[in-house]
Amino acid sequence: MELRIENLTKTYPNGVRALNGISLTIKRGLFGLLGPNGAGKSSLMRTIATLQDPDQGGVYFGDIDVQRDKEAMRAQLGYLPQEFGFYPTLSAEATLDHFAALKGVINAKERRERVQSLLSQVNLYEARKKNVGGFSGGMKQRLGIAVALIGNPQLIIVDEPTAGLDPTERHRFLNLLSEVGENVIVILSTHIVEDVRELCERMAIIAQGRVVAEGGPEEVIAAVNGRIWKRTFEKSELAEAQKRYRVVSTRLMAGKPVLFIYSEGSPDDGFTPVNADLEDAYFFYTGRPAAGSEVTQ
Ligand code: ADP
Repeated sequence: MELRIENLTKTYPNGVRALNGISLTIKRGLFGLLGPNGAGKSSLMRTIATLQDPDQGGVYFGDIDVQRDKEAMRAQLGYLPQEFGFYPTLSAEATLDHFAALKGVINAKERRERVQSLLSQVNLYEARKKNVGGFSGGMKQRLGIAVALIGNPQLIIVDEPTAGLDPTERHRFLNLLSEVGENVIVILSTHIVEDVRELCERMAIIAQGRVVAEGGPEEVIAAVNGRIWKRTFEKSELAEAQKRYRVVSTRLMAGKPVLFIYSEGSPDDGFTPVNADLEDAYFFYTGRPAAGSEVTQ
């Protein structure tokens, strides 16, 4: 089964054009959708998840026309939105039982088996009797995935799932996604470059409502490799240099600003070539400096 996104556009009533002609074809496995805040990721996810209609274009999952047959899409979909809530006084087990009943698993024995197997899959079996209100961020996210998995979805969408997780929880969550992605399509929407680099075979970078790069992470990196250069500057030289070069990012190393620039050929001037990584490619394509690394004089 394949997800085809064709030429989606969406302008909100306040005039913001969140999607500007997005086309993508997504196959089984983990697909990373990378972009800065405001790029249009959630708008795209909500459109795929049938929660909002585009102005133009369409989404097709196998032979389902998603806008025309929302119910058919929803039956195949597991969606973990950016923000969701559980009843804090329910246990993990009771929460899953509740959602399984909502999903139409009416037979009590079948529901119990389904809930137990999901609890094991997301590594919450030991904590199954505990109230969800006392769960850590990572446990809540894993319970969210369990809820998303209840109906055996063929397409799973997770929106910014690792924000706020500590490194251990983050890895545990990414491993879980990786297992889930072996059999179905998983779209991971995130602004965290590492999540995509570690996990996704295929990816797209979106910025200002457009796809600006697409392919395997290696291909996305290869497109900028040999064209990124770096050089340390004195703070007093920085403003002038930022005007002169096509700056990809400005970072600090040992307290001094280092400019990463894009140049087809060697810019000389003391610049050295950078072995580009996905973060360099991301900054190049999104045209934004690294968060928190802006350097002022
Ligand atoms: P991302 O998920 O990449 O952060 P969003 O899809 O949330 O991006 O937002 C894309 C743009 O659309 C942003 O400028 C955002 O402010 C705007 N936007 C998102 N949702 C709405 C809405 N319901 N009404 C108006 N503007 C919106």
